[in-house]
Amino acid sequence: MLNGKKAFITNAAVADIYVVFAYTDRSKKREGMSAFIIEKGTQGFSFAKIENLLGMRGCVVGGLVFRDCRVPEENILGSEGDGFRIAMATLDRDRIAMSSIGTGIAQACLDVSKNYAKERKQFSQPIANFQAVQFMLADMAMEVEAARLLTYKAAYLADKGGKFTKEASMAKLYASEVAQRAAINAVQIHGGYGCTKECPAERFFRDARILSIVVGTSEIQRMVIAREELRSGSD
Ligand SMILES: Cc1cc2nc3c(=O)[nH]c(=O)nc-3n(C[C@H](O)[C@H](O)[C@H](O)COP(=O)(O)OP(=O)(O)OC[C@H]3O[C@@H](n4cnc5c(N)ncnc54)[C@H](O)[C@@H]3O)c2cc1C
Repeated sequence: MLNGKKAFITNAAVADIYVVFAYTDRSKKREGMSAFIIEKGTQGFSFAKIENLLGMRGCVVGGLVFRDCRVPEENILGSEGDGFRIAMATLDRDRIAMSSIGTGIAQACLDVSKNYAKERKQFSQPIANFQAVQFMLADMAMEVEAARLLTYKAAYLADKGGKFTKEASMAKLYASEVAQRAAINAVQIHGGYGCTKECPAERFFRDARILSIVVGTSEIQRMVIAREELRSGSD
């Protein structure tokens, strides 16, 4: 019988199937956590508030509520007690997905900024001629490349099998911070227009902010990276 609630679930009320992590034996701590497959419409399973998000507004995010929700034994994913291991393995892969989104947002910021800088004229010349604007474009281009390479490396290690926890956290942390810096510069390059809903940079700015929170905040990524570094000793 499941009882409890969880806020901020992507695709809440949209998805037909949910993977829910719950304690089956709290005394065993991590080993007492299990994963369940729960279908929408199961008695005792309902939805709570849908959030009005800052960014990623195309994504439905809301709460799940379980009240005396009876789940058959065959709905346990893996075996009883496998929940924590499954959750951690899923998080590593999700982090690579997030770093891809961050790299994509940063690349889009660079693309729209380059185009705008070549079109927009001030003081009788395109703003792309100004070194201050060029430096912002240069930083964006360099950081997009670095974020892409970290993402590819983490994805390559994941495909190869074996451990990629540190690389996934590095890629996620770096790409989400690059996306934010690129979005700040993209709004800057677009000037007043960058502060309007018509400008794509305005949306990138809001979307990028979400990335430092989801699938573990930047602080949590730094903790994971430090833990993995300290565990591995000196190279
Ligand atoms: C758009 C969106 C979609 C989401 N989708 C899902 C989903 O599908 N499934 C799901 O399970 N969750 C989802 N989440 C939840 C998301 O994973 C959490 O919001 C995130 O992990 C942060 O947790 P929190 O909100 O409880 O913040 P908190 O943990 O309260 O953190 C608040 C602040 O405290 C800091 N902090 C917390 N603990 C520590 C620590 N030990 N050391 C240092 N600093 C710390 C954090 O870094 C942060 O800055 C989603 C969230 C959003 C915004």
